[in-house]
Amino acid sequence: MVQMSEQTVESVSTVVQLQKNFFHTGQTKSKDFRKRMLQTLAEQVRKHEKEICQALKLDLNKSETEAYMTEIGFLLEEIKFTLKHIDKWMKPEKVKTAKTHIGSKGIRVAEPYGVTLIIAPWNYPFQLQLAPLIGAIAAGNTAILKPSELTPYTSSILVKLIQEAFDPAYVTVMEGGVETTSILLDQPFDYIFFTGSVPVGKIVMKAAAERLIPITLELGGKSPCIVDQSSNLELAAKRIMFGKLINAGQTCIAPDYLLLDKKIKEPLIEELKKVIVDFYGENAIQNEEFTKIVNDRHFHRLKSYLSDGMILFGGQSDESQLKINPTLIKPKDLTSPLMTDEIFGPILPILEYDNIQEAVDFINSRPKPLALYVFTTNDEVAKQVTESTSFGGGCINDTIMHIATPYLPFGGVGESGMGTYHGEASFQTFSHYKSVLKQTNRFDFSFRYPNAKNSLKMM
Ligand code: NAD
Repeated sequence: MVQMSEQTVESVSTVVQLQKNFFHTGQTKSKDFRKRMLQTLAEQVRKHEKEICQALKLDLNKSETEAYMTEIGFLLEEIKFTLKHIDKWMKPEKVKTAKTHIGSKGIRVAEPYGVTLIIAPWNYPFQLQLAPLIGAIAAGNTAILKPSELTPYTSSILVKLIQEAFDPAYVTVMEGGVETTSILLDQPFDYIFFTGSVPVGKIVMKAAAERLIPITLELGGKSPCIVDQSSNLELAAKRIMFGKLINAGQTCIAPDYLLLDKKIKEPLIEELKKVIVDFYGENAIQNEEFTKIVNDRHFHRLKSYLSDGMILFGGQSDESQLKINPTLIKPKDLTSPLMTDEIFGPILPILEYDNIQEAVDFINSRPKPLALYVFTTNDEVAKQVTESTSFGGGCINDTIMHIATPYLPFGGVGESGMGTYHGEASFQTFSHYKSVLKQTNRFDFSFRYPNAKNSLKMM
């Protein structure tokens, strides 16, 4: 196991001050500098691809295919997209002025906040640390990265990759757990970008409030998935299990539970079982490509959910490998942890409804989810569900794919978070838009002055 020690107040405040000084030199603001740094980041990711995969394998038993698709490839695409569009994003935007401001010009200028803090969780420990950094660099900020202590191998490859490429006065990694994060949260950052759980999100928001630091909170929660009677069951089953079982369900936007129309419940369950076997074999635990649960605590938390309902499929686990087979379960009641906690594992509760409004009402009676999915070929149903519920983002006839396009801003709402990123949204998130009015000196409306005679005086 990689050893990780906590940071001290002195080490943290020294680095924050170093970054403040560097930011004030103005170097991070130049377009060339931003582009070069993004290219450097991409080169580093490519150069260390093998080690990144090894670290993800050790931390999570993540397969190379998943590591490339959801972490390495994802980042390289995001950098490519940013480099392609950054000129346009950086351009000051001319805006109209009001009639009362005749003769003047208005512009909106994107400026970096300054020194930013990016805190990451363990489930996509590489990608979720560096994807926000792309936005921070593109917008001209400096950054301190705080990876999760639960994925130490990935944390240490992040240290190596960042140390090799960047001056700590510009970008650096500060490893550690709760203690280090608490010290960091007590520093005068100019922006905090946090990805993690709802309870820790509240801690971050309270700390930021003390200093009025603007924040983005990318949190979690229970993301529902509705399957309507009109849906293509075979395809729906494949797309649901893809989103549920990637990373063994340890995905913030994985479908947390299913709401099935009673009429298609049985045939869909049969399809889901077939797909599980098709994807990972009769016993996923034995499949080398199937991700493990991150640690003992989460393994036992997940196992405890198995007694909150009737198992319809799966349910087996292996503590020595920290693996749990894909499981379909009918909850005993809606107040058990299985139906109140975010599951974050390969366990899928199944509920049924008689009419679609029941499903909508159920979703609306709970905290606003990070994602919502609806499978249907009926446009009216899709409209009814998406228009009458509030959620961060989602898909019609798919799961999790909305996260993978840089054209769709990604983020939560209510308890699932605030703010968005990816593509241009990342640039916007890490920028303050400064409004500037350039007044004309050609004439002056003297009636605004206290001694006005209500006349227009030419200069
Ligand atoms: P977490 O909140 O426990 O930890 C996130 C980070 O906060 C880690 O770096 C950790 O060191 C730090 N931290 C933990 N406890 C702390 C405390 N008491 N004080 C200060 N800092 C603390 O989250 P996690 O278990 O690493 O990740 C899982 C959660 O993250 C899930 O809820 C999941 O839905 C969410 N998540 C959200 C997104 C998103 O994009 N919205 C993506 C991935 C994960």
